[in-house]
Amino acid sequence: MTFNDDARIDTSKVQRRRGGKTAAIGGGSLLGIIVLAVASQLLGVDLTPLAGVIDGSGGSTSSEQTVSMEECRTGADANADDNCRMAGAADSLDTFWEGQVDGYRAPGVALYSGTTQSGCGTASASIGPFYCPSDESIYVDTDFFSTLRSDFGASAGPLAQMYVLAHEWGHHISNLTGQLRQVGNDSGAASGSVRLELQADCYAGAWVAAASTTTDANGTPFLKPVTAAEMADAMDAAAAVGDDNIQRSAGQRVNPDGFTHGSSAQRQRWFQTGYEEGALSCDTFGVSASKL
Ligand SMILES: [Zn+2]
Repeated sequence: MTFNDDARIDTSKVQRRRGGKTAAIGGGSLLGIIVLAVASQLLGVDLTPLAGVIDGSGGSTSSEQTVSMEECRTGADANADDNCRMAGAADSLDTFWEGQVDGYRAPGVALYSGTTQSGCGTASASIGPFYCPSDESIYVDTDFFSTLRSDFGASAGPLAQMYVLAHEWGHHISNLTGQLRQVGNDSGAASGSVRLELQADCYAGAWVAAASTTTDANGTPFLKPVTAAEMADAMDAAAAVGDDNIQRSAGQRVNPDGFTHGSSAQRQRWFQTGYEEGALSCDTFGVSASKL
């Protein structure tokens, strides 16, 4: 996905943090999450249903500073720089969802490197992007961008980066609608966790479809229409982060009882559903297990 060069970006929607300590995070249960995150290393590894287990006793952030993003003024900047791309995508996502959800309020977005404090405890780079319901904020480790670029290539990388943000924004929408709170820390093919993750994929698809008609304050669309090649890249990315693919990649037998995000086919299908039919089609909690 490419920004229109002359689109104007409001950077106030994203906070960039720098200088957090790389202190260890405590908590044995977190180890499993880190292993999982490292094993999959792809978008979709997030902690939404697990956020409560992050140990908040980690390193202090006394050295952490918020860094200005004034350099991110236009779509051209967003095309050229990872942080500016996040700021541009956040502006577009915020504008899109403002018109979709009654009582909408924007999530916080923190771009960090190393570690940072979140309302769900200390976040570190190894965790991957996540949404914290307690402070209604999305946390993205900017080092993760280079992982995406190496895994998905230079052309698919930017789309994968924005898909990550759109997916996490989707969790914020599920939080606003109240559906996130109904989901516990469960797993399995038709579990609440899987339904929540597929809903976020669907919401991401709805935004991608509307991205080229979502405009800045001057009426300029933030993004150019998605190309067929970019859609193919998005579908590849959705397949890569399916639980069955992740289990296979880890040398395991495919076990639906362990699913937390949905299979490759499901993730592709719900992204496509959102893309073709819009956000109102994303009722993953209202369908039977066989339709999920
Ligand atoms: Zn998720």
